[in-house]
Amino acid sequence: MAGRVLIIGATGFIGKFIAEASLASPHPTYLLLRPGPLLPSKDPIIKAFQLKGAILIQGEMNNKNSMEKILKDYEIDIVISAIGPESLLDQLILVEAMKSRFLASEFGHDVERADPVEPGLTMYKEKRMVRRVVKESGVPYTNICCNSIASWPYYDNCHPSHLPPPLDYLHIYAHGNVKAYFVDGNDIGKFTMKVIDDDRTVNKTVHFRPSSNCFSINELASLWENKIGRTIPRVIISEDHLLAVAAENRIPQSIVASFTHDIFIKGCQVNFDIDGPDDVEISTLYPDEAFRSLEDCFEDFALMVDDKIQRGKLKLPAQKSVVEEAVPMTASC
Ligand code: NDP
Repeated sequence: MAGRVLIIGATGFIGKFIAEASLASPHPTYLLLRPGPLLPSKDPIIKAFQLKGAILIQGEMNNKNSMEKILKDYEIDIVISAIGPESLLDQLILVEAMKSRFLASEFGHDVERADPVEPGLTMYKEKRMVRRVVKESGVPYTNICCNSIASWPYYDNCHPSHLPPPLDYLHIYAHGNVKAYFVDGNDIGKFTMKVIDDDRTVNKTVHFRPSSNCFSINELASLWENKIGRTIPRVIISEDHLLAVAAENRIPQSIVASFTHDIFIKGCQVNFDIDGPDDVEISTLYPDEAFRSLEDCFEDFALMVDDKIQRGKLKLPAQKSVVEEAVPMTASC
């Protein structure tokens, strides 16, 4: 019998992919919701999960007694947290209540190795603290480092989203040749569910590095241009500009700028080998399981753009000449 999974943060950007994958698996799936009415925008998401068999539990993650009772009463075997950055430290209380296996809200970079400037660094310090406390607690754990979600990495966007890549300008970070890994959201969910069934991942950090999805921003731009059959002006964003946006300390834009700097200037996803005793690269565990290619993900974006044009919701901008030189950018662009 597959273990019972409790997901915290199932209505969030990453949590939705995990919940979908869990509901498609044999694991009975429970979703922890904060007490009180749901935001109207989240209501349909929860209803759709319920139709797929999700069992809803109301509870406060940062209430130890309440969480102990929930975990015991529902006989939860695995807790997956995908809570948002603002609540990361609430997981410290949750850990006190836990005996089951725990996947903390990571789902990004290896926070012990990556070293963004502020304000991104504060988030990493919190994630590092959660890692340390989980390890010391003796609860079996797995850290998922899935790197970037497959989409255009907008440095000035407050959240990676389902938006297609831009059609007017493509921002290139400095020389644009530093590589990063891009993983389809559904694969983040699918491989997370494989990991929880796999004893080889207990007390390990699992890195998602699909070799077919390792692209520089220049390569990503060319991929998008090929998909839509147009050239798009490229605007070079300097390292100094990213640092200046980060230093403005506007949340969340400055956090995104600090991560963009870490990824595309410092190479935080590719500047280390996975060779520690507690590290494992996911393709060594499942060599026969392919990740969805970035080509296919961008094909979906091209279809999305086509569809919007057909429905009169979008007009392609006039073709402009390709910008090779850096152009002055305002702080908010
Ligand atoms: P979101 O902000 O989209 O969602 C947060 C979720 O957590 C919501 O479901 C929210 O519930 C829930 N939540 C927040 N606080 C609490 C709490 N105290 N108790 C219970 N539930 C709570 O988060 P993201 O999906 O953006 O982030 C999740 C993780 O994924 C983070 O660690 C983040 O760093 C990482 N991430 C990685 C990305 C990548 O490209 N690799 C991209 C984005 C995030 P409610 O509906 O009640 O608000």
